[in-house]
Amino acid sequence: MKYLYKILLITAVVLINLTTDYGQQTTSYKDSQMMEMIKEISSANLESSVRKMVSLGTRHTLSTRNDKEKGIGAACNWVKSEFEKYSKDSGGKLEVKLDSTFLEPDGRRIVRKTLLTNVMATLKGTDPNDKRIFIVGGHLDSRNSEANDSVGTAPGANDDASGVSAVLELARVMSKRNFPATIIFVAFSGEEQGLNGSTFLAKKAKEQNWNVVAMLNNDMIGNTFSNETLLRDNMQVRVFSEAIPFSETDAQKNIRQSTSAENDSPSRQLARYIKEIGERYVDQIEVKLIYRNDRFLRGGDHTPFNRQGFTAVRFCEMNENYNYQHQNVREENGIKFGDLPENIDYEYARKITCVNAAVLASLSSAPDVPQNVGVVISGLTNSTTLKWKAPQGKTPKGYLVLMRETYQPLWEKKFYTDKTEITLPYSKDNYFFAVQSVDEEGHESLPVWPVPVR
Ligand SMILES: [Zn+2]
Repeated sequence: MKYLYKILLITAVVLINLTTDYGQQTTSYKDSQMMEMIKEISSANLESSVRKMVSLGTRHTLSTRNDKEKGIGAACNWVKSEFEKYSKDSGGKLEVKLDSTFLEPDGRRIVRKTLLTNVMATLKGTDPNDKRIFIVGGHLDSRNSEANDSVGTAPGANDDASGVSAVLELARVMSKRNFPATIIFVAFSGEEQGLNGSTFLAKKAKEQNWNVVAMLNNDMIGNTFSNETLLRDNMQVRVFSEAIPFSETDAQKNIRQSTSAENDSPSRQLARYIKEIGERYVDQIEVKLIYRNDRFLRGGDHTPFNRQGFTAVRFCEMNENYNYQHQNVREENGIKFGDLPENIDYEYARKITCVNAAVLASLSSAPDVPQNVGVVISGLTNSTTLKWKAPQGKTPKGYLVLMRETYQPLWEKKFYTDKTEITLPYSKDNYFFAVQSVDEEGHESLPVWPVPVR
């Protein structure tokens, strides 16, 4: 109670949300500074970024690098110059770079030796002891009907200038502020040719032991209208998360099987966190959790991060339109094809960008996750004892212990404690649990799934 009282004093806004279940209500506390930041995200800026990228004709990974007004080279330079502009406006807080490597021909979509470039802006954390890194990305490259056509027009307004415009807008508003942990904004190349840019960065992060806590991929966040089924939806966004981690080791498999953690990978905890925080901070958007890594038999730039053992998810619009996606611009029997800027709902893209902002700000402001989280198994009991250790870095105000029924997709209850151990009168046979750190302002870390301990 004392804790809640303090939260009320510190934060400016108290919201009562009525849930769809009539009669129930939940109380949420919002950080007024985060709300101010989110308000700065502009749909007009998203639109002008998308139109600029489309004006470059094609951004195919194998397109020209020498033309100032066309191709992937011009696109990389333009994104870099935007990042540099925001850095200047923030007193030099963004470290901007072109991060390049050569791709060897693969006989498929890399038909010749190709220079591949990711454009990155790093907002260094203000706490020198905080080694956590958060990554948010979209892909800059585009394609048309023919995957290897590096010359023909490929506007790629939605796929994925929409995601890159979100990354730019996030860099713009977040670089004016301070966060204890580091945030990297990145425009990937080579997505359409085989997730090359994200694979390059994910492998580097793994080799150099980066402490990447979460990676958010935004790929196609502006279309609201489906072809064929003719659905319209500007109020839902899908978040895809892997179930059993691609990178799972045999030891991790044993723990997963013995604790029934099939639906509780770190990426799924991140997805649930996005739903909770996104819907808390952004109006008129529902985060629809899709319990699979990506669309059926498909992948995106989060997948290479998953494969390297990182926690990563994908944001994607609710409805896709295959008349627009990966299509040459043309008209056939009165139907318009092509991924053009006029097909995008920029207000919808703005809301999804705001969800990203809320999640990144909340996570990077929160203390690190509790360490050595365990569920005590030293005796047979009808209650559940969980214990853990405080994280390094900023000391949490306390911890939230999450609980849900085993058949429920989302956490249902939170118990607050300022200790590092709790005993709850609920059997671990019948419920799932996790623990997150929380600071004085209510910023919560990702939840950690407990493993058996004595
Ligand atoms: Zn894409």
